[in-house]
Amino acid sequence: MTRKAFVIGHPIAHSRSPLIHGTWLAEHGIDGSYEPIDVAPEDLPAFFERLRRGEFVGGNVTIPHKETVRALCDSVDPLARTIGAVNTLVVADGAVHGTNTDYLGFLGNLDAGAPGWSETLKEAIILGAGGAARAVLVALKSRGIERIHLLNRTLANAEKLAEEIGGPVVPGLIETYAELAPSAGLLVNTTSIGMHGTRFEALDLERLPQTALVTDIVYVPLVTPLLADARALGLRTVDGLGMLLHQAVPGFAAWFGVTPTVSPALRARVEATLEH
Ligand code: NAP
Repeated sequence: MTRKAFVIGHPIAHSRSPLIHGTWLAEHGIDGSYEPIDVAPEDLPAFFERLRRGEFVGGNVTIPHKETVRALCDSVDPLARTIGAVNTLVVADGAVHGTNTDYLGFLGNLDAGAPGWSETLKEAIILGAGGAARAVLVALKSRGIERIHLLNRTLANAEKLAEEIGGPVVPGLIETYAELAPSAGLLVNTTSIGMHGTRFEALDLERLPQTALVTDIVYVPLVTPLLADARALGLRTVDGLGMLLHQAVPGFAAWFGVTPTVSPALRARVEATLEH
């Protein structure tokens, strides 16, 4: 029987997930499908009933449903609860399990793009305290980073998130970057700055150690002004597209029983769609 998976969102036309999963389905010759489905917020409960009836093996969840689907799931794993969002659903025996693979996507991307990056890393700076920052914080915590500076435009949002995540997370304003940068081995942008070429006004990358790694989770454009500036200074960089590709791996494995790889060919196919 054909195994059917999906990505739900509202709207959904922009999603690159069908291209990613479609490529893997073809590569592995799997009798399966992965379709984008536009589900309006008020139609979510009815969609979950379709899931419980066994129409799909599972799927992905994107904007604006990542937070709201939690309450509809029959079970949610603890990390997804900490992150506060579900981006992957797995259906088994009439029950819907919710999980979050964004933090694995973040780790998989850095592991592939900068092997060994976390081995001696002691301090990191994360810019932004929104939804994506939650997954990045959980990822960095899982690697035992001693101190994570969570810098945001609005201090209260950073403070609230630091308190929720706990451990080595220290909240602050973006303005404190300059004094913290010299001891940071990793700089991560999780704000929406960088999208469509926007840039931080005062973020002196020269204050980072020459060994620092700079990564941006914004991937449109692929090389954000932050990454371009870091490269110009000779710093190591990893772009954000790999996070999108790597977060898709665990879902595909759970639905179709094969662990796919993020190949250069897949990356090139998805990269080609960013130009349009
Ligand atoms: P979000 O929840 O809306 O959070 C946005 C963050 O950006 C907040 O911390 C906000 O600060 C900050 N911000 C927005 N405009 C700013 C400005 N002009 N100056 C300074 N800070 C500003 O968004 P999100 O869901 O975390 O997503 C953030 C970005 O990550 C998006 O571009 C998204 O596409 C990207 N993303 C990529 C991946 C991937 O797989 N690569 C995955 C998820 C998200 P305040 O708290 O002060 O408002």
